[in-house]
Amino acid sequence: MAEFNRLVALVEALDNERHVLFNECLVWDGYVTKWNQPRVRRGGEWLLGSRIAYEHVYGLIAEGVQVLHTCDNPRCLNPFHLFEGTQKDNMIDAAQKGRLNLSKRGERHPAAKFSDELIERIRKASGTNREIAALYGCTHQYVSELKGGKKRITKTNEGTEDAEVMPQ
Ligand SMILES: [Zn+2]
Repeated sequence: MAEFNRLVALVEALDNERHVLFNECLVWDGYVTKWNQPRVRRGGEWLLGSRIAYEHVYGLIAEGVQVLHTCDNPRCLNPFHLFEGTQKDNMIDAAQKGRLNLSKRGERHPAAKFSDELIERIRKASGTNREIAALYGCTHQYVSELKGGKKRITKTNEGTEDAEVMPQ
């Protein structure tokens, strides 16, 4: 329950500072599932952080409807990065973002810290490399490499038979 209240307080604080924090991910530093999804208890129930954040700002969502991320950062609780979708939307979203791709290349590689979408956001981010690095939790050298156009192995469609999709 303490963690539930802490999560709601974080979302509320962000809601009050929306003009400042609209673009930044609100990354949950508490417990996450193996899919990196924030999960907290309320009473005897385990709830997904993204769902709590979304419902806190936009109101209750229907059963069977999932909360998806525009930022593709599963730990993110920023309500402005969340949208409602069905399981089908989730599959399409996952396929577009490469989460259905099991081949160990590009962002699927265990060594890859950032999704392709985050990489693009870092490339396009304004500010000094140090400011951007602080925002995204990486080194300024890495920002410099990305902005310099250093490429990572691109996504491939190989190996989709065993595809699994992150549950929402
Ligand atoms: Zn986010």
